[in-house]
Amino acid sequence: MNLILFGPPGSGKGTQAQFLLESQSFLHISTGDLLRNEVRRGTLLGNEVKDIMERGNFPSDDIIFNIVSKEVISTQRQHIIFDGFPRTLNQAHLLDSLLEKNQAKVNLVVDFCVDLDLLLHRITGRYSCENCGAVYNQEFLQPKLADVCDKCGSEKFIRRQDDNPDVLKNRIQKYLTETEVIKDYYIKKNLLVKINASNNPEDVRAQLSLCIRQAGFVF
Ligand code: AMP
Repeated sequence: MNLILFGPPGSGKGTQAQFLLESQSFLHISTGDLLRNEVRRGTLLGNEVKDIMERGNFPSDDIIFNIVSKEVISTQRQHIIFDGFPRTLNQAHLLDSLLEKNQAKVNLVVDFCVDLDLLLHRITGRYSCENCGAVYNQEFLQPKLADVCDKCGSEKFIRRQDDNPDVLKNRIQKYLTETEVIKDYYIKKNLLVKINASNNPEDVRAQLSLCIRQAGFVF
């Protein structure tokens, strides 16, 4: 199954991807995580995209498609979650042609609908484990044991550079002008299902699981 988690920054796509990874042999392709990893490692690509990301802008579609292709081509897994990709219509077309080469296609696009006013609140509370990247929120998703990562036991947490109110405004603007238009593309293909992502993570998880089952995937 090729599943796209679609929605604005802070709508909870990453959190839900983590839930899905608990119970299925999905490959999780988060272009944001892949790019942040390059930045952290100080690679050529990382240096090229660092400033762009810190301002909430988009690296070129070529750059993005390159990193996604590498992941898709090198995996043996049959189930992939795309998180934060595609973000432009061109990326959506590129994804289709990439999957077609493997006789595959996008099977489901889940649209995380959330009140935009909520996003600022959510994003400013967001932090993640420095070691494994698990995402938490100081208001509604804290580690079970205070200050200890549930996934890996690390006690070091970080906040993202681009999770601040000024940059967030630009990220939402980019979402509204460049990304939201992709919805029509998937609606025409009858692939888009909406969920209410303003609710708490457990409720969103239940809605997402239902969508996946209703799309015919055993899960
Ligand atoms: P995210 O973690 O998905 O919020 O992505 C963080 C940042 O990485 C974005 O604000 C963009 O600068 C960049 N980015 C991630 N995915 C994409 C994409 N598919 N297209 C363009 N830029 C992206």
